[in-house]
Amino acid sequence: MRQGEREDSGVIFLDTADGATEAEGEAAMIHDEFTALPLSRQRKKQLRWIRDGKCKLCGRKRDCRSAQFCPSHLVSWRRYISDYMVKRLKEIYGS
Ligand SMILES: [Zn+2]
Repeated sequence: MRQGEREDSGVIFLDTADGATEAEGEAAMIHDEFTALPLSRQRKKQLRWIRDGKCKLCGRKRDCRSAQFCPSHLVSWRRYISDYMVKRLKEIYGS
């Protein structure tokens, strides 16, 4: 058995005798700085995506104007924040 590592994803693939990788059927455990933290699997996935320069919601390439989002999710995030601020300011000052 030979152990190989793919750099782009950080996933460790274990080669079996017949040439197939175990990671195809069952995801291999990722060992990095987030593994031991008491967080949910989804949150660790998001933190890995942020660390690797990807969108934290979908894992696509990050927009250069944003620290966490791809172009499409940056649009929806800004719309959400804008709607939230309008609602909040109406609550504070009245309509
Ligand atoms: Zn995205």
